[in-house]
Amino acid sequence: MEKVTTSLPLNPKHHEKMGFLTFFLLLEELAKRYEVASFPMLDTGESAQEDQKILLQKLQLLGLDSKNLHNKEIFTPEMVQEVMIELYKKGIITIAEKTIHRCHCGKIQFIEGSKLSDSKKSLLDSNGLSKCCSSSIHKTTARVLLTKPLDKITTRIVSFPDWFIKEIHWFGEKFDFPFLISRVTPQKYSAIVEGDHFYLDADHLFYFYLLFYAYMEKELTSVVAGPSTIKQLAFMLHFGQMLKLSLPKSVYSIPKINYSKETRETFTEMVKRYGPVRVRNALLWASLSNRKEININEGHIKGSNEEVIIPVVEDKN
Ligand SMILES: [Zn+2]
Repeated sequence: MEKVTTSLPLNPKHHEKMGFLTFFLLLEELAKRYEVASFPMLDTGESAQEDQKILLQKLQLLGLDSKNLHNKEIFTPEMVQEVMIELYKKGIITIAEKTIHRCHCGKIQFIEGSKLSDSKKSLLDSNGLSKCCSSSIHKTTARVLLTKPLDKITTRIVSFPDWFIKEIHWFGEKFDFPFLISRVTPQKYSAIVEGDHFYLDADHLFYFYLLFYAYMEKELTSVVAGPSTIKQLAFMLHFGQMLKLSLPKSVYSIPKINYSKETRETFTEMVKRYGPVRVRNALLWASLSNRKEININEGHIKGSNEEVIIPVVEDKN
């Protein structure tokens, strides 16, 4: 097993956001620090070639080695099929016949009596019609795939910042009920389990990310998450433990980084003006600022001539 440091898949379409670039910088620094490989995984399934090209140019400008980037499809159909069978054999997922509430297009879908139905209300307009396809919610009976409720994580995982691991554990307490991972409408991914064909929600596949990595013969030593991937990371760790896989020893959280531009200068012009080292330092400093949200501006970049030391939050042994 090759030891790697990674993040949840990164969609190249976010290249405009300065905070997005910090994932790649932090992964590279963590890899050096822990003496493992940096393994940034791009979510290129839906993204445009043009976005990927621009992202690569920006990373090159920052002096990052783009040959580490894995811009292939994350989940192959064969892997998805094998993973689902293994999850079923291990009792992590089960098949059940359930009454499903759904809209016409299938974007809204939940089990009758589901605890999550409150959050789905925001997807409806004032007339009770779905915002996605302006249809009413109707009931249907279907064979579906459900997960086991999350078990609490008992393995020690340390985090940066300190408070981050508490958020991860919070999900284990909150989601103590089975949830639906199959969908009634066609999706990109599907699997056959016990002779039945199920469409799978790609977002839910990330819950079993550690199993996919085990298939790729990679062991995750540390994982970086951002504001929009905390839930996926939390589920991935909980299911990882339930599958008795080795869990990453450390997790890092990148804050929401807002960049306020005073000039019309593009990213490329800015890197050319201040040099890649200052831009890198400023972004790493912001990503390790121990906050949930941080604003940076050109002044921060101009003054960032000090090297940023990456905190090691675990023993190497
Ligand atoms: Zn809909």
